[in-house]
Amino acid sequence: MATASLISIAPPEALLAGSLEIGSGEERLRDSHGRAITDLRVSVTDRCNYKCVYCRTGEEGVNFTELPIEQYLRMIRIFVSLGIEKVRITGGEPLLRAGLLEMVAELARMEPAFTEDGSHKLDIALTTNGHLLESLAAPLKAAGLNRATVSMDAVDPSTFARITRVPRSFERVLAGVRAARDAGLGPVKVNCVLLRDFNDDQIERFAEFSRAEDVIVRFIEWMPLEEPSTAPGSRTWSPETVVPMDEIVARLNSFRPLVALSANAASETARRFTFDDGIGEIGIVAPVSRPFCGHCSRIRLTSDGKIRTCLFSQTDHDLQQKMLQGQSDAEIAAYIRQVVYRKEARHHIGEPGFLKPSRNMVHIGG
Ligand code: SAM
Repeated sequence: MATASLISIAPPEALLAGSLEIGSGEERLRDSHGRAITDLRVSVTDRCNYKCVYCRTGEEGVNFTELPIEQYLRMIRIFVSLGIEKVRITGGEPLLRAGLLEMVAELARMEPAFTEDGSHKLDIALTTNGHLLESLAAPLKAAGLNRATVSMDAVDPSTFARITRVPRSFERVLAGVRAARDAGLGPVKVNCVLLRDFNDDQIERFAEFSRAEDVIVRFIEWMPLEEPSTAPGSRTWSPETVVPMDEIVARLNSFRPLVALSANAASETARRFTFDDGIGEIGIVAPVSRPFCGHCSRIRLTSDGKIRTCLFSQTDHDLQQKMLQGQSDAEIAAYIRQVVYRKEARHHIGEPGFLKPSRNMVHIGG
């Protein structure tokens, strides 16, 4: 597992005493392993209009509360004052959430307190299934969104509909991808989760798609985060269902020789490749076969206002409750520092005794 670069740091005394204040010139947000936490993923709803067979049940499933947008904004403002440089809006399906454009416009006014490159702009990204993106891409860009990632698990329309369990979904998502690209929400990333003997026949077609559509296609190894379900078509994770990075690389190399690209940042999750003619870009995100926990810079906020320090956490931390108790920004900031300090070193997928996390992907925010 990728833990070699983890180091332990002692907690600042003020942190343990809960007296660190935002804006007090203190250290940026770090965990006890020395990792700077720069990337916040915020789920604004856990409702979704797709029922992807590897993620959701075929039913409506559990829904956690949604907070008023203002509450997310207050929480994010505090996170940003502590060191968050990038906010990714996710869900559930974030485009279902009313008030999203206004939320993006408010985020665009926030200035990170600490940045690696001296930039004063918060990096604002969105992960969406793309179903409603065609008409929203340009308004989102105008509101201040920088980039969009669209999930798309097949380029064959009938396979796509079999995965989403929504008829004619492929055409909608393709239109959304193109609208995002045309609106300047690029480089547009298209995320594909591969399941063995289900959609792994799409690998070469996705390579063609990246080259033809000028988007970055990212293959993601499936993790054990699905809602348990016996509904027809639903899939259950096992190690054998994962299509590992080495196999994806070999398949792509037979399609056309791959050329490795350097990482954009140390915390980048994807290994990047282009082809020998420089056309197209492929990323491979391999949390199962090549975990990257040692470089993890992420923290998550669920739609009901809980902090999750790892996708595979067994508990979450109730930030909304702190707000409802009337705590000040400084008190909430101190609480965030304490929670983040205890971020898990790594996940344990595939190891004996692995426990599924206390929530599934759709209720955490991917
Ligand atoms: N609805 C939005 C979407 O479709 O992108 C945002 C939420 S969705 C949970 C975020 C991403 O998580 C999608 O790309 C989805 O494919 C991915 N995902 C869901 N379950 C996963 C799992 N068990 N392992 C890996 N990725 C998963």
